[in-house]
Amino acid sequence: MSKKDTLPGFHLLAKPTGALCNLGCKYCFFLSKKNLYPGSSFRMSDELLETYIRQYIEAQKIPQATIAWQGGEPTLMGLDFFRRSIQYEQKYRRPKMTIQNTMQTNGTLLDDEWCEFFHENNFLIGLSLDGPRELHDAYRVDKAGKPTFDRVMKAARLLHKHKVEYNILTTVHTANADYPLEVYRFLRDEVKTNFIQFIPIVERDNDTGFQEGDTVTDRSVKADQYGRFLISIFDEWVRKDVGKTFVQIFDVALAAWSGVPPGICAFSPTCGTAMAMEHNGDMYSCDHFVEPRHLLGNIYEKEMSRLAGSRKQRDFGRDKFDTLPAYCRRCEVLFVCNGECPKNRFIKTPEDETGLNYLCVGYRVFFRHIDGAMRFMAHELRQGRAPANIMNYMKNIKDGQTIHMAAKPGRNDPCPCGSGLKYKKCHGQAG
Ligand code: SF4
Ligand code: SF4
Repeated sequence: MSKKDTLPGFHLLAKPTGALCNLGCKYCFFLSKKNLYPGSSFRMSDELLETYIRQYIEAQKIPQATIAWQGGEPTLMGLDFFRRSIQYEQKYRRPKMTIQNTMQTNGTLLDDEWCEFFHENNFLIGLSLDGPRELHDAYRVDKAGKPTFDRVMKAARLLHKHKVEYNILTTVHTANADYPLEVYRFLRDEVKTNFIQFIPIVERDNDTGFQEGDTVTDRSVKADQYGRFLISIFDEWVRKDVGKTFVQIFDVALAAWSGVPPGICAFSPTCGTAMAMEHNGDMYSCDHFVEPRHLLGNIYEKEMSRLAGSRKQRDFGRDKFDTLPAYCRRCEVLFVCNGECPKNRFIKTPEDETGLNYLCVGYRVFFRHIDGAMRFMAHELRQGRAPANIMNYMKNIKDGQTIHMAAKPGRNDPCPCGSGLKYKKCHGQAG
């Protein structure tokens, strides 16, 4: 195997139950993937489990590996399956290698035993929760159409009780997008989580379940609505919660304004280092492209490292940059947006070029809005100070005045942070 055919490290989302789930969330993009495997039991065999763990650990040329479980609903495999996965990790782990285990779950099957296991093995859990009861239950229902809020809240309490590290994954859709502060305050004050990821629901309206067509379902968030959602939460966060509550897209933005890679594929110039593996060992280019045309192969037939480093996969990752429309290439917030995820690029630019991101309007307005605050925080970081200092600065900003205006005085004006320097020499410096 030549070196150029492998990646030094990559992420893989393993789906031990394929698309099987005990819930029937109305917007789920993955439930329809069961059609790819008619007649399957949708259970990863013990033999494949060991093969996966061995190949994945061997493929990492760096001393870290992340074993990431996702679904469908991975807890349907039962706890013993994951106990065995830990045993295989110990068997194949190289000396000095650190292994992180993560799991994305709907939480409804968790109990004390699961949470003790997570705690003992340092799992990082992603728990899906869409906000307060009515907003969560709008789409997150079980197979019988029954609400799931109480079951998920019980899971959050169990994770707290057992000191399991977890973050909340909140999808943003028609039902909750107009209630940003209700959602955010609920997660911060009632769930008491410190880590939040917002995922916009952009659900294509077609019968295939693939990323095809240019219409979206009524459940999908609108682009401008998503922008307003993020702005409302940012305006509260930047006054009260910097350094206390971590919101993934705000971290991504601060990284970009600080000139640091975002660490999130959707906002990186290229992608292709985060693949997905089905319950039978089939590997696909990405979790959002589990479709026949993006099948890389099966790890029984070809080593995972070869599939991850294949020409097909490298092209997939480079296409994210190569297919950017001219409209994006000259966009003032390209450095942070990077056209976001290709799965959402299906509308036309004002010049009629294809491949613009459906959420573009929202991202533009959001990233412009946070420019002043991000410059401030990035400057603090460069000076070795805490970005949270912005909260003091924000005390001088009147209610209703936008951060963008307040944080952007003229270049030769005194910097509002009180340093005595001109703005251009202080917080107005280019990133
Ligand atoms: S297609 Fe989107 S989600 Fe998939 S790897 Fe690329 S940026 Fe990430
Ligand atoms: S904001 Fe719109 S135009 Fe700018 S990079 Fe993002 S998707 Fe492209």
